[in-house]
Amino acid sequence: MTGRVIKFYNSFFFVKVDAELIPCKLRGLLQRDKKIGSAVCVGDFVEISKLKDKSGVIEKILPRKSLLSRPLVANVDRIILTFAAAQPALHPLLLDRFISIAENSKIAEIIICVNKIDLIEDKNFLSEYENLYKVIRTSTFTGAGVEELKEIISSGVTVFAGASGVGKSSLLNKIDSNLKLKVGEVSEKILRGKHTTRVSELINFCTGFLVDTPGFSAVDLIDAGITAENLKYCFKEFEKFSGECKFLNGCSHSHEPNCGVKSAVENKKILRERYENYLTLLQEIGARG
Ligand code: GDP
Ligand code: ZN
Repeated sequence: MTGRVIKFYNSFFFVKVDAELIPCKLRGLLQRDKKIGSAVCVGDFVEISKLKDKSGVIEKILPRKSLLSRPLVANVDRIILTFAAAQPALHPLLLDRFISIAENSKIAEIIICVNKIDLIEDKNFLSEYENLYKVIRTSTFTGAGVEELKEIISSGVTVFAGASGVGKSSLLNKIDSNLKLKVGEVSEKILRGKHTTRVSELINFCTGFLVDTPGFSAVDLIDAGITAENLKYCFKEFEKFSGECKFLNGCSHSHEPNCGVKSAVENKKILRERYENYLTLLQEIGARG
């Protein structure tokens, strides 16, 4: 039978099959494969066989759609990149860093949530990103956008990412009052989990699942598996123009002549600020020309 790994606890993988939660061990062959990413992760769909004592054995991991490294969770359907409109101020470089990690993890749905919208006048805040990603603006104080957010996360597995203090716990509590997260609690988890790979758990949330640890406790691109060669694919609007680059796939869109991406920036078809953030991140990875 097929199920989904919900948590890892006491050396057992808990696999949810319909309404049942079955503690499972790994079939010997899988067990030897210790490399992160090929062993079983929370979020994986697996084939199991049941034993007489009601426990089970994981026979096979089904192919993954996506894999997020921190927290280590497979098959996340969407990521909500949470920022505050103010207090703390939103830094586009941090936003593009988060977006890059999410893109690199192959998470299908990337949504930007600007919380604390009550603190600013501009209700179109961050509209320049709207051509690229869905942007929702929320306030846990006025309730603005909260229903929209609830609707979005009503199915599948959602992970919330964002720096501490942007209001993630407040938002989650507002959406599902059964959760009762202490305001500030999620941020403590971020600090504690900084340099370790935390084992996450999928928890029922509304009608979907929520990853219980915030995503991206580390915002290091190299840590997240991003290289100088693949960073450009994390800026999805570049692709349309990269066919015009003289060096085609070999072009890093930084120092090369006849670059389609650079022309698109000049012609205002690509947001200059995004492009500049790309260059900054590329330089940080340490491969610039
Ligand atoms: P987390 O660290 O991301 O989980 O953030 P918290 O939920 O702990 O909230 C951090 C601070 O921001 C708290 O003082 C909250 O009261 C405040 N806060 C949360 N949401 C909003 C909002 O929509 N508007 C304003 N003005 N403050 C908020
Ligand atoms: Zn180029």
